[in-house]
Formats: sequence, C-alpha cells, structure tokens
Amino acid sequence: MLVDLHCHSVYSDGELNVTQLIEKAEKNSLELFALTDHDCIDGVNKAIELAKTKQIKCIPGVEISINWKKKDIHIIGLNIDVDSKILAKKLAEQQRKRVTRAQKIASLLENYGVEQCLEKAQAHAQGSIITRPHFAKVLVDEAKVKDFGQAFKKYLARGKLAYVATDWMSIEEAIETIHQSGGSAVLAHPHRYDLSATKMKELITTFKELRGDGLEVVSGMTSKVQISQLNELCARYDLLASTGSDYHGPTLSKVDLGKQVLLPKSCKPIWEQWVN
Ligand SMILES: [Zn+2]
Ligand SMILES: [Zn+2]
Repeated sequence: MLVDLHCHSVYSDGELNVTQLIEKAEKNSLELFALTDHDCIDGVNKAIELAKTKQIKCIPGVEISINWKKKDIHIIGLNIDVDSKILAKKLAEQQRKRVTRAQKIASLLENYGVEQCLEKAQAHAQGSIITRPHFAKVLVDEAKVKDFGQAFKKYLARGKLAYVATDWMSIEEAIETIHQSGGSAVLAHPHRYDLSATKMKELITTFKELRGDGLEVVSGMTSKVQISQLNELCARYDLLASTGSDYHGPTLSKVDLGKQVLLPKSCKPIWEQWVN
C-alpha cells in the first residue's frame, strides 16, 4: 500500500494548494494520505472531499510545534476529529504565537535592510499563517542570501540573526490535545532535531511515558541507518511506525509526495487501525 502521512499545503508553508496536492497524490498512486499543515487544519476537509473522488483514503492530520529542552520539536496528530473544540482552541493559541513571532522576525530583518518585510512575507503566505520559509523567500527575493538553506543558516535558524524563540505548547499538552480530539500522536522526523543518541532516547522515553503512539520511521530525507535505528526504537519502546515525505512543494522538497522509501517490513504501521 502506498502511504504518505506527512505533507504541507499553502495553508502552512507548502507551495501547492489542496487541489494540486490531491492531483499529485493521484498521479503518484497514493492510496492513503494525510495533510499535516503546521498548527492548522483549514485544508483538511477539502482534502478529504477531493481524495474521495480519486479513491484515495485521506486521514485528517496536523503537525504541532512544541518546545522540549530548548528544542523546537514537531508532533503529528493523525486521525484527529477536525471538529474538536479543544483542538481548535489549542491551534488558535499556536497561530497567535506564530503571528507574534512573524512580527518579531520581520522587525529584526528590517534592521538588516529588508524594507516592509512583514508585508512581503504576507504576500508569500497568501492569506495563510506566515512561517519561516515565507521569510526565507523574502530574503532570496531581496538577494540577501543565495538560497533557502542560506536564509536559515544566516538568519532564521535557532541562534541566528533573526531567530525568535517561541513558547510553543509542551509535549504533554500536544499529546493530550491530539488524544482528546480522538487522534494518534506521532513524533515527526526524530533525526531532524540534532539530538545526541542519549537525548534522542530521553525524548522517546518521555514521549512513550506520555502515551505517545508512534514514531515517523521514514521521512523525506531519512537515511537507511536512521531508518533502522528508528525501527529498533519502535520495537524497544513498543511504538507504532509512521511514514511521510514531509513534502512542501516542487522547489522546496527533494523527495516528491509519496516517494519516500518504504517502511521496513518488521514495523507495525500506525495506519492499520484505520484501513480495513
Ligand atoms: Zn516538521
Ligand atoms: Zn512537516
């Protein structure tokens, strides 16, 4: 079964709208799909509706930002109830934090000579919440940097010139919110946080103690070695396995929607509970 349970649309920092994503899902022969925008579920109903017309099963999803030990970590909520009031309230809080963060980043970048930075980032966001890749686009447009990677390396990544620390929700709160809205909590791309092996174990132990459900064993850029490490961690901590390309669009992502490598056969896929 071809599965992709992690991708982004224009409702967060993706380049494609929901219609284009579903068309791509069909073209790439996906059978199971989840849209997981950052702290936002605005595109989910449309994704479900369009996926039905293409015989693709769409699982409602979201990617929630949290703080853990001074790191920004992502927890994915899958099979959530999009009408959950608790989820709506929590996501609204996160979005308010994103607005404040965007204003602060814009004023820092203005100090580095980017005029009307917030307006320019807003134009890239096209009415959706402003995220750091939107600022990266502005920095490239303004020729402050050569490419996206440099925009993060010089300005937007943690500790860099225009980095703004944000007080996201805690890991407890994210897992609880996902569970209260009927979903399963998955630790997204565990290798993307620059954690030592000890810290990684600590994070996964905490995640398991808080009743987290699964690890994203395969993400867009996970290496073979990382996949086998995560597979072992799933077995050791009795966690389910998820997979997703983390596709953000044709210019932003090297791995296309649904084209991430397959999960190892020994994994217990998280989606088995949702498909017959
Ligand atoms: Zn993420
Ligand atoms: Zn993502």
